Amino acid sequence: MRIAVTGGKGGTGKSTVATALAFELAKRHKVLLVDADVDCPDDHLILAIKRSKVDTVTKTIPVLDKNLCTRCGRCAEVCKMSAVIHRRGDHPVFIEEQCSGCGACMLACPVGAIGKASKEIGFIFEGEGRGVRLLSGELKVSEVVSEFVVNALKRHLKKIESGFDYVVIDTAAGTHCDVISALEGVKLAFAVTEPTPLGEHDLSLILELLGKLDVPAKVVLNRAGIAPPYGIKRIAERFGAEVAVEIPYSEEVFKAYSLGEPVKVPAIISLAERVEGMK
Ligand code: SF4
Ligand code: SF4
Repeated sequence: MRIAVTGGKGGTGKSTVATALAFELAKRHKVLLVDADVDCPDDHLILAIKRSKVDTVTKTIPVLDKNLCTRCGRCAEVCKMSAVIHRRGDHPVFIEEQCSGCGACMLACPVGAIGKASKEIGFIFEGEGRGVRLLSGELKVSEVVSEFVVNALKRHLKKIESGFDYVVIDTAAGTHCDVISALEGVKLAFAVTEPTPLGEHDLSLILELLGKLDVPAKVVLNRAGIAPPYGIKRIAERFGAEVAVEIPYSEEVFKAYSLGEPVKVPAIISLAERVEGMK
């Protein structure tokens, strides 16, 4: 069964909750933790798991043959990513980092002056520790097309997930394409938030998205106690999402975080029990 740990806002403790939940479930079940926050994966650090590279993610990039190019500029006109710069009378310049590899420029070029090359943009890792199997994607620094890495991660997930009782997916923060892609096929999503104005705002965004995707949602209120939770509870009620647990703002949580240990608090145990109750 796939469970997602997600959140509209970064820095609310999403990875802390995902790793702690995976660790707790792994005491009784076979658990795969998927770190789909490919811009900044850190679940392996929280669980002190050494990762090994199992795949390299590439994208197709255009290569210009200046001898064939007539400098017409058609390639720049069709590029939706603004990855081609063309000044009248000059050869076009391709910005690799900006390019999504869609191939439109290659099809549009009237003289076949644009060929293809392959560029390494990320990696897929696996690892194991504390009873948890980890699958983790990572986008290379300065690359922008993270969806390629998320898609490669999902292909790896499909190959191995039947061997596990639970798959816990730690998504990126926000409501963008990578988050939507990572939420595919999940039976329940925990939206992690905190009792702050930003937390409230971003919680409504992620609950709205989960509603549109028809994914049942529950709220995990992290750092409970730093401010009254009325706003969070009002938003959760508006979207029909129960506040499943409140994780208190405590020294114990910070100590575990700084020592690279999974957080072991009653709220996480209760969260794991709720997940087990769904089977
Ligand atoms: S492959 Fe697509 S994104 Fe890349 S430069 Fe060509 S048109 Fe633009
Ligand atoms: S479309 Fe082809 S010929 Fe025209 S500028 Fe681009 S590469 Fe050159």
